[in-house]
Order: sequence, then structure tokens, then C-alpha cells
Amino acid sequence: MNIDKRLFAEEYKMKLAFFTYLLLLLLMLQLEVIGPGIFFLTEDLLKEEELDLKKEQVSIKEKLLTYEIDLITEQRTVDNPLSRLVLVNKEQGLAPDFIPPDLIVVDIPFPFAENSSRKKMRWEAAWMLENLFKQAEKEGIDLVGVSGYRSYQRQEEIFKQQVLLRGVEEAKRVSAKPGHSEHQTGLAMDLSTAELNYRLSEEFAQTEAGRWLAEVAPYYGFIIRYPEDKEHITGYRYEPWHIRYVGIEEALEITKKGITLEEYLSPKLVEFSLFSDRSDFKLNYLKKELRE
Ligand SMILES: [Zn+2]
Repeated sequence: MNIDKRLFAEEYKMKLAFFTYLLLLLLMLQLEVIGPGIFFLTEDLLKEEELDLKKEQVSIKEKLLTYEIDLITEQRTVDNPLSRLVLVNKEQGLAPDFIPPDLIVVDIPFPFAENSSRKKMRWEAAWMLENLFKQAEKEGIDLVGVSGYRSYQRQEEIFKQQVLLRGVEEAKRVSAKPGHSEHQTGLAMDLSTAELNYRLSEEFAQTEAGRWLAEVAPYYGFIIRYPEDKEHITGYRYEPWHIRYVGIEEALEITKKGITLEEYLSPKLVEFSLFSDRSDFKLNYLKKELRE
């Protein structure tokens, strides 16, 4: 009995020594590999969080500052804001107080009920868009208006949000600076379809409504303002949902040549891209003639 106890005590001591040794070894290892962080975890994390917060605050300030500088240096105001062919892009914009004098609510379906200036366009564009929608209805095409006129102040809010979210450079690819949105001209409208839950998405180009719009819009004086692969000219990625009123003759020519409004208004740019003549448009042109 006594011998057993002693043996047990010896064994116990040895085990204790072994585990203490193991523990010390592990401790040293962790100090070597991970650093003492694990022991001061909460304190360190708190410091890091504080630092992150400070960094974030600095970067927000930086972003806003870049945005203000950007706003001052690039601003150029157009002198023909009421023209059907007014060119509003990243290089030239509209004055903060420019509000088209002939805005009216477009009588087309919208996915929201409330009264909003988003439902407005300049009267000629509005009237032509209503006719385009009548044709769509006749052909069983499901289209809705999502966003038309937008004031300078509203664009300012939207752009600032995008800057905070993405930084200036990325924000400029997807959103316009205040004064530089075509929506302020009252000649542009974003469209969607029930199939996309009324979202504005590149997928629109593949929907029945999107394909129909690209084909028929020019006959009503509208162009797809930001075509695919023209970001180097328009400054915007492909937006198959954004149409811009320019007048029938102009829209047909722009679409037939496969050019942008920038190229249409600047002969140098047109020469540069004349070879991009769209043969599929000619085909659709014939189809349209048959339909009449
Ligand atoms: Zn748009």
C-alpha cells in the first residue's frame, strides 16, 4: 500500500514536471512566434481599433478634400444648356442654378407611386418618350421609367455618397460630379423592366426590353448614351439603361454610325471611329421598315 502510494507520488511529480516543462516550452514558443500579443489581446486590439478609426477619419477627410479640389479644377460650364444637343460630360457641365424651364411629368409607368422630379423631363423629350412607350406597349414590351430629371443639389448628394464609399476615381466611373450629370439637362431617362425588378443593371442589355430599346429608341430621337467599349470617350462604363434625347435625325445617325454623342459633335473623333459602323443596326433598320 505504502509502496504503491510512493510510486504514485513519484509518478505524479514526474508528470507535473513534464507538464510544467511542456507549458514553459509552449509559452516560449508562442512568445517567439506570435509575440506577446496573446497576453495583451484586449488592450492591443483596442489600440488597433482606435488607430483604424483615426485612419478612416483621415481618409474620409482626404477623400472629401480631393473631391473639393477636383470640383474646382475641372468645372467648365456649357453655353447652350437648352440645346437638344447640349454636351454634358466629365469635361463640361451645367451651372448649379440651371433648371430646365419646361420640365413636365412624363406619362409612362414608374415603379414608384410618389410624386418626384425623377418623373420629369423637358417637354419634347417627354412627349417623344411617351410615344416610344406607346410603341413598346403595342409590341408587348415591358418597360418602366426609373430616373429622369435630377437637380444639381441631388447629384451633389449622390456623388458625395459615392466618393465616401469608393473614393474619387472609382466614384467618377459610376456617378457624375454635380453639374456633370446628363440627368440635369432634363433630356435623359434611366429605364428598366420588371424582369430585373426595376434595377439599373448591365443585364438590361440582354433582356427583351433592353434589346428592343436599343433597336427602336433612335426612331424616337433617343440614343444609348454610354455604349459598350466607349468608356475611353464617354468616361462611363456601359449603361444600356440610360437613354438621352437628341432628336430623331441625330439619334439615327449616331446609332447607325455606332458613335457616341462626343464623336458626333466633334468631327475629329468621328473620323477616328468611322470604321466602327454597326452592321447590325442596318439590319434592324430594315426590320423596322418592314414593321411600319
Ligand atoms: Zn442615367
